[in-house]
Amino acid sequence: MKNFDFKPLLRKNIQALRPYSSARDEFSAEGSYLFFDANENALGSVGLSEAFNRYPDPYQKQVKTLIAAQQNVDVEQVFLGNGSDEAIDLLFRAFCEPKQDKALIMPPTYGMYSVSASINDVETVKVSLTENYQPDVESVIHTVKNDPSIKLIFLCSPNNPTGNLLNEENIISILENCNAIVVVDEAYIDFSPDQTILRYLNDYPNLVVLQTFSKAWGLANLRLGKAFASTGIISIFNNIKPPYNVNGYTQKAAIQALNAVEQKDNFIKKIIEERENLILELEKLSIVKQVYPSDANFLLVKMTRNATDIYNQLIKDQVVLRNRSTVHLCENCLRITIGTKTENAFLIKQLLRLL
Ligand SMILES: *Cc1c(COP(=O)(O)O)cnc(C)c1O
Repeated sequence: MKNFDFKPLLRKNIQALRPYSSARDEFSAEGSYLFFDANENALGSVGLSEAFNRYPDPYQKQVKTLIAAQQNVDVEQVFLGNGSDEAIDLLFRAFCEPKQDKALIMPPTYGMYSVSASINDVETVKVSLTENYQPDVESVIHTVKNDPSIKLIFLCSPNNPTGNLLNEENIISILENCNAIVVVDEAYIDFSPDQTILRYLNDYPNLVVLQTFSKAWGLANLRLGKAFASTGIISIFNNIKPPYNVNGYTQKAAIQALNAVEQKDNFIKKIIEERENLILELEKLSIVKQVYPSDANFLLVKMTRNATDIYNQLIKDQVVLRNRSTVHLCENCLRITIGTKTENAFLIKQLLRLL
């Protein structure tokens, strides 16, 4: 196990924080009690037959118990948030002193890391991925060694918008050699489940893994993200999160989803099949220069003609792609989420019309 203590990296105000104690923190138990402690409406919920009048479990114990069993981690190593975006924000609020500490990101990558940094008034240091979209490990290690104000390092695997997994040796090498929190965002890992870095959670106390119900699980609308880390880091997240950050409906739906894993696996299988089909169809088109290999549910595609023109043409046909043509190392590229068989066929038909 790596020798690492996260506490000296915490912001001073978080080290000193006395967390809020909610009604359900001060008393929670199984069984039938009469609750006079949380100023809820005892009569019911306006306009709804289902009852939403009681505050939900602030620590989502039932959901976490199912997740912990499926992922083979301790319940105390799991945090749930209002999307992974909440966990990203909490990382900044826990570890980065505004105007003073920094986060290292590796473009091209997910845009929320730098936006969340800006919101928290934290500077981002950028170390570009290499031409084949892998971390420049030496440069990352060198940069972090020379700047102790870098508290967070963000890696995204499979990476958005490039679609590829980061090599495990690269991630491990960064974990080994950096005295900072290393966040590995695995939003798309369900599409290559064997590749999760989660099995190293107990070896690297500086590792934080993010996953989500928004992609493979098909629950983007419910806003439920997961973070896995040491019990110490998770308890800090619990102390600084809003008390009831995951609503009761979402918790109930997540329990149903976690009890139907076969359906998720079936979705994944179908999406991967469609992805491989779409690659073949796209590669036949003369406006397509290159389809990058993907370990996720989307494709990064480099065009031979102006990508923004193609993007705009498709909008007229009511087909919406993600224009990534101005992104570093993604010049003239579009990002395409895998749709249904029918949707993908329609997309190809519209692209053929542009030839
Ligand atoms: C979609 C996505 C997320 C998920 O965000 P949620 O807030 O959980 O919906 C996280 N990271 C990356 C890289 C993503 O693409």
